[in-house]
Amino acid sequence: MQPTSLNRHLQLFLCVTLAAIHAHAAANGATRGPKPNVILITIDTVRADRLSCYGAKNIQTPTLDALARDGVVFERAISQVPLTWPSHAAILTGLYPFQNGVQDFTGQPLESRFRSVAQAFKQQGYATAAVVSAFVLDRSWGLARGFDFYDDAFSPEQFQHRDLGLVDRRAGESVTRALAWLKRNPRRPFFFWLHLYDPHSPYDPPEPFRSEYKSHPYDGEIAYADHELGRVMAWLKQSRLYDQSLIVFLSDHGESLGEHGEHEHGFFVYNATVHIPLIVKPPAGSRIRAGRVSHPVETVAIAPTLMNLAGIRDPIEKQFTHGLFGTVADASDDVYSETLYPFSSFGWSPLHSLETNRYQYIDAPAPELYDVMADPEEKNNLAPVQAAVVAVFKDKLKSRLQNHPFIPTQASSSVLSPDALEKLRALGYVASHSPVSAGVLASGLPDPKSKLWEFNAILEAEDALQIGDVKRAEEILSPVQEQDPKMYVIPFVLGEAALRSQNWERAAEQLQRCLDLNPNFDNAMTGLARALAKLGQVEEAKNWLRRATSSNPENYRAWYEFGLLQAGNDPGAAQASYQKAIAIQPNFSVAQRELGMLLFNRKNYAAAVPKFEKAIALGLGDAQIHNFLGICYNQTKQMQKSIRNHEAALKLDPKMAEAHLNLGYDYQLLGQRKKAKDEYQEACSLEQKFCKFVPPQ
Ligand SMILES: [Zn+2]
Repeated sequence: MQPTSLNRHLQLFLCVTLAAIHAHAAANGATRGPKPNVILITIDTVRADRLSCYGAKNIQTPTLDALARDGVVFERAISQVPLTWPSHAAILTGLYPFQNGVQDFTGQPLESRFRSVAQAFKQQGYATAAVVSAFVLDRSWGLARGFDFYDDAFSPEQFQHRDLGLVDRRAGESVTRALAWLKRNPRRPFFFWLHLYDPHSPYDPPEPFRSEYKSHPYDGEIAYADHELGRVMAWLKQSRLYDQSLIVFLSDHGESLGEHGEHEHGFFVYNATVHIPLIVKPPAGSRIRAGRVSHPVETVAIAPTLMNLAGIRDPIEKQFTHGLFGTVADASDDVYSETLYPFSSFGWSPLHSLETNRYQYIDAPAPELYDVMADPEEKNNLAPVQAAVVAVFKDKLKSRLQNHPFIPTQASSSVLSPDALEKLRALGYVASHSPVSAGVLASGLPDPKSKLWEFNAILEAEDALQIGDVKRAEEILSPVQEQDPKMYVIPFVLGEAALRSQNWERAAEQLQRCLDLNPNFDNAMTGLARALAKLGQVEEAKNWLRRATSSNPENYRAWYEFGLLQAGNDPGAAQASYQKAIAIQPNFSVAQRELGMLLFNRKNYAAAVPKFEKAIALGLGDAQIHNFLGICYNQTKQMQKSIRNHEAALKLDPKMAEAHLNLGYDYQLLGQRKKAKDEYQEACSLEQKFCKFVPPQ
């Protein structure tokens, strides 16, 4: 379901005619009086042309359309990077990816020297909360700073059975959690960020959207997310909070849906993935009026706009370039996008783009220039015939990238020569390690356009691996590996697949190969350690985990794996490792459970209780864990809680002899002899060795 060119043309025409409405919104739109509540809503992967308020047909988005009627609709909002985590980092810090160092998902967390709007609101006395719906926005990446409450608790089954990038939850659950926080929030202004993930692939909306949008399920996901968001808006209106709240909605990036040969997003920077919907509903009393804005704007302008419309001053302003309601001079700036994903994951050229009212310029080994007014689908590359325009854009891009670029604090750990580092900087890549050798850098990088078939083959292989078809994945990947033997991502994908199918030797071989090609990749180290440990090479496994945790101290899965290996003969060290893991991510349920078990084994029952309780609250409540928790309560003389947990264990597994035995002991301590004897008898009938506990007649 591609929009017709005419359709898009019409949309662009409307943008131009409606531009005047925006006119000259006051530079300072702050309200007078009490500070407004601020609600930031991001729905992942929504193309602007999929909302009715942007001209879409055949898709119902009544919630966002209503918001659009009450607010300012930005018709050409451009995402700075078409990847979930870096895009949100740009939105919340007001910094370009090349400034805050968050360029893709292979790098380090957001460094603490960069402030987020959540920290600014909190400093001003706001209650702050976030509910996010995908693991890629997990707190270990650093965006939780400044939030009193950051809900990124995903179910433990997901962590065990799915690829990390696919761990998510539906809008229904996230909205319910969001409303729970909003309802219990005390009476003071709040800053709330809600992130919904549904339109991200795979496209599988729940009923009735599944049937209604059977032939275009991507649209169905958007309609479903819009429907769930309606519950938040209804509650705000019922609670009389809607009018006085500042509400900003946008998406982090769009979706290609096959345009330019790309199926999803992240690989290219065409408008299919960087053009996003953006609506700002000002709080009552603001001088900003509802309307439409037609000139291009950037998502880095959102953080300054939130602060400005809420009337808040904060040191974070040092990070900002400009807001959405700036002067006309600001509005004539070119808007920027980048993707480093082709480079950091595959060793191909990064892409950078500048857009103006009329053009999109894409800087690549073979540069591209599109007249987006005449050619909204970007099919006719004008770069070969408009060398002068290209030269101007090239210059502008170069100076843009020189504006306060990120400098890694750990530059000393870099293994690159100054010359190679210089080349990386010229590519707009700010990490201190390179995914390709200095020689490859010097000889020039391939254009992602020419590597599309390899890229799509890798995605196809990953899909095959998700359904456990390793053979098919290898068939798809082997010609790619032949073509590009130095691509580390292929052995990584194959190694991770081997881990999931418990083929430890193959996993170790592939992950070792991956690390030969990309020696700093901490996730490959963690996987390799797991495989080696299973193969009995425990000391070597520990060495890799030491390297992984020093390379990325926030890698809580590495700390967790480290704990597992230490638990056997160094429980003190294991305890410290588990504690590190849960200090970074308290919602990492298996680490809570393992720490609980370790404390239990060390007879530290009181300390084990909260770990087991947390693991159960996170969804790990099986019979075993209730049984152990019951023993902890028994040992700390909390008999009613002990009984409740042993009963819970038996409800889940009525034939669990230990739980009957422990329940018998609970009753015995309480002096309830008849009940105690019954439970002991039951334990004896299930397991001979427990018969000695049955009291004589
Ligand atoms: Zn996203």
